[in-house]
Amino acid sequence: MKVGFTKLSTIDYPGKICSVIFMPHCNFRCGYCHNQDVVDGNVDRKLDDVLKELAQDQKIISSVCISGGEPTLNPELATIAKELKKQGFLLKLDTNGSNPYLLETVLPYLDYVAMDIKGPLSRYSAIAKYDEINKILRSISLVRTLKDYEFRTTISPTYLLESDVLAIANLIQGSKKYVLQGYKKARSDFEAEEPTKEWLQQIASLVKPYFTEVMVRGGK
Ligand code: SF4
Repeated sequence: MKVGFTKLSTIDYPGKICSVIFMPHCNFRCGYCHNQDVVDGNVDRKLDDVLKELAQDQKIISSVCISGGEPTLNPELATIAKELKKQGFLLKLDTNGSNPYLLETVLPYLDYVAMDIKGPLSRYSAIAKYDEINKILRSISLVRTLKDYEFRTTISPTYLLESDVLAIANLIQGSKKYVLQGYKKARSDFEAEEPTKEWLQQIASLVKPYFTEVMVRGGK
């Protein structure tokens, strides 16, 4: 099996330096996707080689983020997570929440999950070309059983209004952590406004009462 691999990242595991494994392919089609190469399956590292390299580097890197694409499309995900956990790594999963059945089998090996909330449920079809909303709802319930997790939304005023973010806050209210990520242009075939830090902070203060913690990432 081929995957993408970044040996050192300071942004993919909260408070830690981690390695990132990128699982190929995705069942969503978000116009703002930053990882189109991975979604298209353009990855070139053998998973076995990556796992060996991680085992050798464990004294330096103690955390691994499994990202994508969408990792829960891979039926081997629980086996891979179990192996990494056995080696002693802290393990984070990035997911779009579309496969709660597989997510449930992986949860016992995870220390942290970051689940995307693409928009209010009624906007999933427009934003991500995905409409199996019951699966998203089930994944939200599963993620909330973990000790450490975040829900996160990539946001631009072009495709999400304040009222949309309030609808999201209502959907996942009471959750531990919600992150607003400023949209950043990544591809020529999708145009949207990059939000300012001030606008993101304004939205963050609107939804703050719904969560234990609200964070802003990015913004210009
Ligand atoms: S869910 Fe993530 S990886 Fe998949 S298309 Fe959307 S942004 Fe890209």
